[in-house]
Amino acid sequence: MVLESLSNSLRDTIKKITGASYIDKNTIKEVSKDLQRILLKADVNVKTVLDLTKDLERRATEEKPPAGMADQDFLVKIIYEELLKILGKSSNISLKPQTVMMVGLYGQGKTTSSGKLARFFTKKGLTCGLIAADVHRYAAYEQLQQIAESINVKFFGISGEKDPVKTIRKALEAMKDIQVKIIDTSGRDSLDQDLIDEIRRIKEKINPDEVLLVIDATMGQQAGPQARALNDAVGITGIIITKMDGTAKGGGALSAVAEIHAPIYFIGTGEHMDDIEIFDPKKFLSRMLGMGDLEGLLETFKDTQITEEEAEESFEKLMSGKFNLEDM
Ligand code: GDP
Repeated sequence: MVLESLSNSLRDTIKKITGASYIDKNTIKEVSKDLQRILLKADVNVKTVLDLTKDLERRATEEKPPAGMADQDFLVKIIYEELLKILGKSSNISLKPQTVMMVGLYGQGKTTSSGKLARFFTKKGLTCGLIAADVHRYAAYEQLQQIAESINVKFFGISGEKDPVKTIRKALEAMKDIQVKIIDTSGRDSLDQDLIDEIRRIKEKINPDEVLLVIDATMGQQAGPQARALNDAVGITGIIITKMDGTAKGGGALSAVAEIHAPIYFIGTGEHMDDIEIFDPKKFLSRMLGMGDLEGLLETFKDTQITEEEAEESFEKLMSGKFNLEDM
C-alpha cells in the first residue's frame, strides 16, 4: 500500500481516540502532538502542520458534537476534515477528446507518466497518441516510442528536429483522427530560464487543453517550490505525483503541491504502465485512515441527525404523553 507507515500511524491515533473512555483537553493535546509527529515524519511542511493542529485543537475544544454523535467520533471527524483541507481540491481530468501537455524536470517520471496516461485514456475507450517533443534528449524520443509500442498507441516524433513547436504541429496534423494527444515536452536537470521559455512558447503556440505537471513524491515538501515555479511560468491545470510507491515522504509532496491550487489528478504507484491511480482526496484519506467510505457515513449521519432542541422537544412531548408517530 502507498504510504503504509503514515497510514499505520494515523490508524493508531484513530484507535487511541475511539478507545478512549472520554475526550478531554489532555486527550486533544495528546492527539495533536501525535499528529504533529506523524505529519512531520511524512515530510509535511512545519507551518502546515502547526496550522492544522492549531485549528484541530481549537475546533475540538470549542465546537460541540451534533446531538447523537459521541465525542470520540467527533474528534475523528475533525481530524478527517482538517487533513482533507491540506490535500487540495478534488477534480478529475475529463474524458473527452483533448490535447494534453506534460511538463516537469528530468527524472521525475514525465515520459513514463505520458505512457500511463495514454493507457488510462485507451482503457476508457478513447483513441490516444503520444508526441515526442523533447528535442534535447534523443533517449527520451526512443523511450516514448517504445512505450507507445508497448501499449499499442500511435506515436509521432521527428528525430533531429530542434523546434518542438514544429514537431507538435506536424504531430497534431498527423493525429487529426486521434481523440487524446499527449505531448511529452523537454525537461532539464534544474528549472532554468531556457526550459521556462521553451514550455511557455509551446503553450502559447499550441494552446493545449491541459498542462499537467509531473512531479516526484520522493522530493517531499521540496516538490512545493518546484510546482510553484512551473505554475508561475506556464499555468498548471493538473498534477501527477509519481513514485508514491517508493517513499515515506508522499504526504509532504501531496500537501505541498496542493498549495498551487491545481488538482492532483493521478498518483503514480510503480514503473509499469498500469501503475497509476486516480487521486480522489476524500477516498484517499478515508483509505489512509482505514475508515472505508467515511464521507458516505458522515452524509448518512447528517441526514438522520436531530438538533439538541428537537431532541429536548421530543423528550418533553414523550414525558407529557403527546409523543406521536411523526415525532418518532
Ligand atoms: P522523465 O525524465 O521525467 O521523463 O522520467 P522517466 O519517465 O524516464 O522516469 C524516471 C524513472 O522513474 C524511470 O526509471 C521510471 O521507471 C521511474 N518511474 C516513473 N514513475 C514511477 C512511479 O510511479 N513509481 C516508480 N517506482 N518509478 C517510477
